[in-house]
Amino acid sequence: MGALPKRKISRIRRGHRRAHYLSLNMPKMVYCPQCHHLHLSHHVCKNCGSYKNHEVVIIKDKKKKN
Ligand SMILES: [Zn+2]
Repeated sequence: MGALPKRKISRIRRGHRRAHYLSLNMPKMVYCPQCHHLHLSHHVCKNCGSYKNHEVVIIKDKKKKN
């Protein structure tokens, strides 16, 4: 038998360790400056169709809250 860990690592400690690299694979979400909805960074906002404070895509059914 090979080397084995002496103690079981709790869910908390396992999660703390994995938080470093699992967060890198998460989609990078930022808040849209126009409609304050979450959208992917460096992507056009799907809610209002704006990118860098300019409306790039005209979305037919706008569901703007403000
Ligand atoms: Zn938006």
